[in-house]
Amino acid sequence: MKLIDIVVPCYNEEEVLPLFIEETNRVISTIDSYRFRYIFVNDGSKDKTLMVLRTLASRYPNVRYISFSRNFGKEAAMYAGLEHSTGDYVIIMDADLQHPPKMFPKMIEGIEEGYDCCALFRAKQKGESKIRQLVSKIFFSFQNKISDVKMPDGAVDYRIMSRQMVDSIVSLCEKQRFSKGLFCWVGYNTKWIEYQNVERTVGTTKWSIWGLFKYALDGITSFSVAPLRLIAVLGFIISTLSLIWIIITLIQTLIMGIAVPGYVTTLCAVLFLGGIVEMSVGIIGEYIGRIYIEAKDRPIYIAKETNFEDK
Ligand code: UDP
Ligand code: MG
Repeated sequence: MKLIDIVVPCYNEEEVLPLFIEETNRVISTIDSYRFRYIFVNDGSKDKTLMVLRTLASRYPNVRYISFSRNFGKEAAMYAGLEHSTGDYVIIMDADLQHPPKMFPKMIEGIEEGYDCCALFRAKQKGESKIRQLVSKIFFSFQNKISDVKMPDGAVDYRIMSRQMVDSIVSLCEKQRFSKGLFCWVGYNTKWIEYQNVERTVGTTKWSIWGLFKYALDGITSFSVAPLRLIAVLGFIISTLSLIWIIITLIQTLIMGIAVPGYVTTLCAVLFLGGIVEMSVGIIGEYIGRIYIEAKDRPIYIAKETNFEDK
């Protein structure tokens, strides 16, 4: 019988975990041609998530967990889960039941059709603010335009993948991971299926607006050097316009003599160019920062406790 590993990153999810496993077990019990195993990753939770995981592990023989020494972020948690997985297929899903387990049969059907991956995207973002929906839309269209990786608007980290695809993803050893992009970057055939988003019933979202902004920035800078090209193009355009302006002014000065008023033009030029230069340095800095972090070559996560050895 084929084994399916279910990787679940958890950060402060003590309230929802018992519900999650109950709900997921109910779905799993209806699929009897596969074996399922949970790989929970406790991402340095500050609540009793680890305690809940220990209890679940003692109650259910198919529960494994890895607990981090601190919060390393969802990307690191997903990586740890994938790295520890050995199943023929691997499912990644959130702990908060926003990724309904009732989609399992459809996902398995997709992958059994011969796809390497079956991924989900949100049909309608129920329970999310208008601003967040708009930002998400802008992000996806921008991301698709400027980089090689393509994904539908509303693509989430809920998917089933073949062993081969998981191995490819784990072999990418970059430290600053942007999984949505990595999943596309490795290639393979992906079947996209739609699902109805559900509101988070227990606990709260772990993302702040600033966190989401940083995430979007990560996504753009890890898969594209378009911003660097953009500043080069911008520099070229500004230089050309300046040259034209200089020639016009020179001619005017030669014909009509020196015109004294020039305060506004000078100020505008200095401020505008100052802004552009500062922005450009910022963009370059962003990329250098990423090189710096990669160069340190620190591990993606540090595990403090796991029950992988016990079983
Ligand atoms: N998560 C994590 N580490 C973090 C933040 C979140 O492992 O630093 C997990 C969280 O426990 C959940 C999933 O990632 O299982 C998605 O988080 P959340 O539901 O807060 O995000 P949203 O659904 O609002 O995008
Ligand atoms: Mg959620």
